[in-house]
Amino acid sequence: MTTESNPTGESAEKKGLNFVEQIVYDDLKAGKNGGRLNTRFPPEPNGYLHIGHAKAICMDFGVAEKFGGTCNLRFDDTNPVKEDTEYVDAIRDDIHWLGFDWGDREYYASDYFPKLYDLAIRLIKEGKAYVDDQTSEQIAAQKGTPTTPGQESPYRNRSVEENLDLFERMNKGEFDEGARVLRAKIDMASDNMHFRDPIMYRIIKTPHHRTGTTWNVYPMYDFAHGQSDYFEGVTHSICTLEFVPHRPLYDYFVDEIADESYRPRQIEFNRLNLTYTVMSKRKLLALVKEGLVNGWDDPRMPTICGLRRRGYTPEAVRNFIETIGYTKYEALNSVSLLEHAVRDDLNKKATRVMAVINPVKVVITNYPEGQFETVTMENNPEQEGSGVHEMPFGREIYIEREDFMENPPKKFFRLAPDQEVRLKGAYIVKCTGVHKDADGNITEIECTYDPESRSGLPGANRKVKGTLHWVSAAHAIDAEVRLYDRLFNVENPAAETERDFREMLNPDSLKVVTGVKVEPFVAKTAKQGTKFQFQRIGYFTPDYQSYANHLIFNRTIQLKDTWEKVAKKA
Ligand code: ATP
Ligand code: MG
Repeated sequence: MTTESNPTGESAEKKGLNFVEQIVYDDLKAGKNGGRLNTRFPPEPNGYLHIGHAKAICMDFGVAEKFGGTCNLRFDDTNPVKEDTEYVDAIRDDIHWLGFDWGDREYYASDYFPKLYDLAIRLIKEGKAYVDDQTSEQIAAQKGTPTTPGQESPYRNRSVEENLDLFERMNKGEFDEGARVLRAKIDMASDNMHFRDPIMYRIIKTPHHRTGTTWNVYPMYDFAHGQSDYFEGVTHSICTLEFVPHRPLYDYFVDEIADESYRPRQIEFNRLNLTYTVMSKRKLLALVKEGLVNGWDDPRMPTICGLRRRGYTPEAVRNFIETIGYTKYEALNSVSLLEHAVRDDLNKKATRVMAVINPVKVVITNYPEGQFETVTMENNPEQEGSGVHEMPFGREIYIEREDFMENPPKKFFRLAPDQEVRLKGAYIVKCTGVHKDADGNITEIECTYDPESRSGLPGANRKVKGTLHWVSAAHAIDAEVRLYDRLFNVENPAAETERDFREMLNPDSLKVVTGVKVEPFVAKTAKQGTKFQFQRIGYFTPDYQSYANHLIFNRTIQLKDTWEKVAKKA
């Protein structure tokens, strides 16, 4: 094994660790927590996971793997109003798809509701918590500012007996939602706003997806997270930077329960923010609910299920996350980096095939009618042993409309009158004429072919400037393709606080094209998850709505980043 799996050994390799790994390494080396390493990934089941969560997952599970520890999956299910088992199931699937597993360590914050309640009772008895009858608006108004102290609640000095009685009755359901809260009695003048008597419990009467109607009070994040970590034996509680100011409160509540032997430690890294998309679950939910996209797994969504449906691979996502790394300051990452990782991975994996998106017919007038032959195509020159497949060739073929110009500019190396091109894997053809309809649209192109120019024949090495993809008209199979572009046409929609994010949606983010012609091999081999490279066009994968009589392909990504080219030219 590598030295990294033995971090306490003197020879342990320290190089190449990110700052979180370095902390973990040092803690293990110092023998903290008896040399144990246990992390957790704590999603709230109130939406589907997105690529930002993937960054957290890669950290939480990755560091545990790297140093021989374990990682818990803990559903942070403290708000029954927004949570649902649909999300729980989806979260499990997405973590597995990314390549991580939590074994039997699946936990729920709701498992700890009894213990948290007991702790609240104890804190009340010790004079460290009180029931406040004020509205949330009144409480917010007394919060103060970072430079001015807050104001104490008129209910702050209630007797222990009254607090116990009220809190118990809150939980029995005697009061309405919002009527009362339980607050920690800490310091309304603290420099840290989170210490100004934070709310521990609120009344919620919506049944919980796991505990039903057992509870009428639910703990706040700050009163649940650190203790949940402690109850589970989590040693390193890794989260994102917005929790830095919460850390003292995390430690404060942990101090109330921890003994000498062990304590969890919160460490923060920067969130993933990606250009041309949004990462807020609230906004993603709105897109779904309002029908602005076709569900959580719409291939334009930054959700993990959306990326999967679009044809992204877990390896590409993980490579991208490794590339951007983990830091202690917020940044915006270019989606081009993610797209680069996707192309890089698919280049190695995708089967090369022919598909014509916008077909025009070519008739090869000197090729005998009714005659066909097959040409051999490499499945993937980037992958040894990926083999070859046969593709039919005949008198009538389809090429892309864009690959022909009647009056081409100089340096147009594709098909034009009297100009020669090679049909990939087959013959050289020369354009001898065009047919048009009454409106002047080209309906058919006539060519002749050079019978000596096929691979293996004497004229095979004759140089021509252009090579086109094509499919045999007699054998082509119709398909639908869905061409996706960026969901937003603004680089950082979250930064445009003056505008509604819906206004910034890219109206051309989905283009559905029917009448696409694919070679028979595509129809024969297309299954859920198959990765194709439509040569000269891009990477495509069958959609789950695709079936034999109606093939549908999602475009994962174009071959080259046209957006980048545009940006460079500008
Ligand atoms: P909410 O706004 O509902 O709290 P959230 O995106 O924080 O949404 P959680 O389910 O609480 O969702 O997140 C689970 C974990 O994923 C947390 O540890 C959180 O820090 C991490 N996480 C969430 N968004 C990102 C992101 N963009 N980049 C990295 N980590 C993230
Ligand atoms: Mg959160």
